[in-house]
Amino acid sequence: MQHQQLMELAGERSFKRGLKYFQQGKVTDIRHSLDNQFQALVNGRESYSVTLSLDDGNWQGECSCPASDHSDFCKHCVALALSIEADEQLDSAIKAKLNRLTKAELIELLGRALYEAPEQYQVLKSELLG
Ligand SMILES: [Zn+2]
Repeated sequence: MQHQQLMELAGERSFKRGLKYFQQGKVTDIRHSLDNQFQALVNGRESYSVTLSLDDGNWQGECSCPASDHSDFCKHCVALALSIEADEQLDSAIKAKLNRLTKAELIELLGRALYEAPEQYQVLKSELLG
């Protein structure tokens, strides 16, 4: 699914907030059940439980936050959808390879990737150092 479609589902405001949550790594405990359902916690000011399901290529969202009473697809749903999509971009061969690297090798690899992406470097830095 493209960002454009998520933006249409959630509205631009919620999409941008969800994108920020995703970039800051606020989505945790992602679980994937067999019937194309995903559950996770999204930790903003409070933690909310989010459930997404894929129905004919379209996301259906449910969230425990108060904002989702008014919209089916809140910023927490956006953050989870982006996390799932990012995860799917790493194919299994790459994941298997990453699993075999040492921590030092991973840090070196991350350092090289971030050198090419200064914006992501700033996100990581504020995530780690506050
Ligand atoms: Zn929510």
